[in-house]
Amino acid sequence: MTPDARSRKSFWKTLNLLEDWLTTGFSRKHPELEIDESARGQETAVRAAAAAAVDPVPRFVHVEGPASAEDRSSALSAVAAEVAGCAKCGLAANRTMTVPGEGALNPPVMFVGEGPGAEEDRTGRPFVGAAGQYLDTWLKPIGLTRPQVFIANCVKCRPPQNREPHPDEIGACLPYLERQIAAVKPKIICCLGRIAAQTLLGTASSLGALRGKVHQRHGIPVVVTYHPSAVLRDKAGLRKPVWDDLQLLQRLLQQ
Ligand code: URA
Ligand code: SF4
Repeated sequence: MTPDARSRKSFWKTLNLLEDWLTTGFSRKHPELEIDESARGQETAVRAAAAAAVDPVPRFVHVEGPASAEDRSSALSAVAAEVAGCAKCGLAANRTMTVPGEGALNPPVMFVGEGPGAEEDRTGRPFVGAAGQYLDTWLKPIGLTRPQVFIANCVKCRPPQNREPHPDEIGACLPYLERQIAAVKPKIICCLGRIAAQTLLGTASSLGALRGKVHQRHGIPVVVTYHPSAVLRDKAGLRKPVWDDLQLLQRLLQQ
């Protein structure tokens, strides 16, 4: 390897480590660093073409919701009915139940997760598995209960093996979430995890860079925290930042 290539590799290694630390708290494998330099040019071209073909962050388009509570409630039912028959992306093929989301109108907080897991796929209800039960324990300290909030996901069908939803799947499903937000009219949106945060804020920034502050989207304050599943995997590292994020959420609620 040339000295130039070596210093480039070390630069990317440091950057990846930093990103890993900010997003997950631990270091991950980065197979692209192991790529033979001679193959790198080709690899870069392939990646650039793929990135150009699929927008890495699906655009979130604001929609105006209906005005009366009755119409907003019907709008939510209409979304759930459409989702139940939806085959706009490949996730339709493996789902058992669709999981549109549920909760109160005008809630203090609307939580947005990534996508259904096994238990959600089986029952059709959001955040009812281990992550959901853990999320419940986050509500009480900030004075909230499950029936008071609304909970939805970026994609309404379970990705196989709980893999992350792909950008094209998120893009296909996003209009449902847009309509839900417009109908629900939450005071604050809380994004659970990187996928929800990047989707709702229309950015490719890391979770570490997005949490800890209040964003705005079309007049609704948005806060970001780690996904409960990530915290269950790394309580020692992530409990404290989540607690700080929940305190920020609580301060906003009191305003
Ligand atoms: N994880 C999510 O992102 N959503 C759910 O509904 C359950 C687990
Ligand atoms: Fe339709 Fe969303 Fe399910 Fe894809 S994930 S099939 S877009 S409801």
